[in-house]
Amino acid sequence: METLVLSHAYEPMGQISWQRAVTLWWTDKVEILEEYEDREIRSTTWVMKIPAVVRFLGRVRVRRQGLRFSRENVYARDGGACQYCGTKLKRREATYDHVIPRTGGGTTNWENIVIACARCNQRKGGRTPERAGMTLRSTPVAPRSLPTTIRITFANREDVPSSWRQYLFELAYWHGALEQD
Ligand SMILES: [Zn+2]
Repeated sequence: METLVLSHAYEPMGQISWQRAVTLWWTDKVEILEEYEDREIRSTTWVMKIPAVVRFLGRVRVRRQGLRFSRENVYARDGGACQYCGTKLKRREATYDHVIPRTGGGTTNWENIVIACARCNQRKGGRTPERAGMTLRSTPVAPRSLPTTIRITFANREDVPSSWRQYLFELAYWHGALEQD
């Protein structure tokens, strides 16, 4: 059972275990906005419902995704699109291509790694884009900032708790679509 966490400004920040949500509530970090009506936690002296949506009472410093060089951040920089053909890829579909292949002295860093679909990656093989007759859609550089993404993962959209929806609607509006894994 998971709890949706909102920032002070009601922006969805992610999902946490209900146990963690209860801990945040006990320590006055969050307020409970929605509860799971049919789920209760009992001790010998008290009963409470499991929080479904909580909101931070104070401003939270959002950990900057930094510009740590990571698969996640390369994916975000490239907008989730294959940098050769432009196909939108889910995270698990993205492959990481060395623009200048390692065998040709290519390094593993922001300037030489892009995401690619499996087909383009295979077609390019161990060649430079020029050799393979392929064109990069943009020159890879280290980004100054990255778009904020949060992942809400449920197998089916119908499994998203109904009490979350009004808050996620805003998110869907701002980010175009909820990602479903
Ligand atoms: Zn492609």
